[in-house]
Amino acid sequence: MSGIASAKRIVVKVGSALLVGQDGADRAWLAGFAADVTRLRARGQQVLVVSSGAVALGRRRLALPKRALTLPEKQAAAAAGQSALMRAWEEALEPAGLAAAQILLTRDDTEVRRRWLNARATVETLLALGVVPVVNENDTVVTEEIRYGDNDRLAARVAQMIGADLLVLLSDVDGLYTADPRIDPSAEHLPRIERLTAKIEAMAGGANTGAGVGTGGMATKIAAARIASAAGCATVITLGNRPSPLQAVEDGARATVIEPSTTPKAAYKAWIAGSLAPAGALVVDDGAAQAVRLGKSLLAAGVRRIEGRFGKGDAVVVRDEAGHEIGRGIVRYEADDAVKICGLKSDAIEAALGYTSGPLVHADDLALAAQAST
Ligand code: GLU
Repeated sequence: MSGIASAKRIVVKVGSALLVGQDGADRAWLAGFAADVTRLRARGQQVLVVSSGAVALGRRRLALPKRALTLPEKQAAAAAGQSALMRAWEEALEPAGLAAAQILLTRDDTEVRRRWLNARATVETLLALGVVPVVNENDTVVTEEIRYGDNDRLAARVAQMIGADLLVLLSDVDGLYTADPRIDPSAEHLPRIERLTAKIEAMAGGANTGAGVGTGGMATKIAAARIASAAGCATVITLGNRPSPLQAVEDGARATVIEPSTTPKAAYKAWIAGSLAPAGALVVDDGAAQAVRLGKSLLAAGVRRIEGRFGKGDAVVVRDEAGHEIGRGIVRYEADDAVKICGLKSDAIEAALGYTSGPLVHADDLALAAQAST
């Protein structure tokens, strides 16, 4: 079982080699893939596409030489090609009644928390509206040092950001093998990998490093799968170069499934508990402490005191009045505003601030101390 039929939220990475043919965007392939997306959407699954192809389309459009491009040339090609890429996606998805939306990300957008939260909120809104987000790296503004560099890794970071439960990497090989199948006839296909051990990484990554056109070979696919696995997301690596590749896998075509090592929710909470330095604290009354411990959101009404100078989206510690840490969470108001709404009922927040962002800390963004220590 690949999990394609049952996943709730799927990120599919589509490489340049699939999308761009001799004469520009490969419309026939895109139409088959659009049928895949339509089927998944009709079953209530959410689909986000990470699409390469901007540089490949742009270099044709700008008639750039065949040699390896310099970074500025690549960026110029991406600028010229990204609009062609989106047009191809729109033309593929529109006949099925699906709207596409372009999202261009740089590495900071998935690493700087506030930008991460903004990007996540936008993607969440698009998915809730039934739109298909089409993500690419914002190649025109990045420098070598701050590039993701390959869309396999970008796709894994996006999967992590939106708590996807499945990442599909459409590749030019149908999965991982014990050795390079093109040169070693005894190479065995690995249908399911429960844990990406060093042995498997050395075997599959080393043997297949050369495989793969575009930027990402097998090694980057394994790196992507490692990020996804730790984020609670399964990865499927399969052959993209066939009419409806997701349908093909559902029908039993060869693929490698790499299982997640946790759930998206647990991974997210572990990240909040462990990786973020708190910028302040919210001191809560007994009622709120109890509610939070039971998994409820932290409402302004139960907050007695604010400490620290945090911004919206920063991590804060939630403490009871006796000084015990109850948990850590991502706060939805900056400190100045949080002070103003301390003790207020939720329906009075709008009048006090002129806006409301809901609870001070939403239950989804709260890692309880007991969970934090496990
Ligand atoms: N972002 C690049 C593009 O759209 C591709 C990078 C990759 O394929 O890994 O052309």
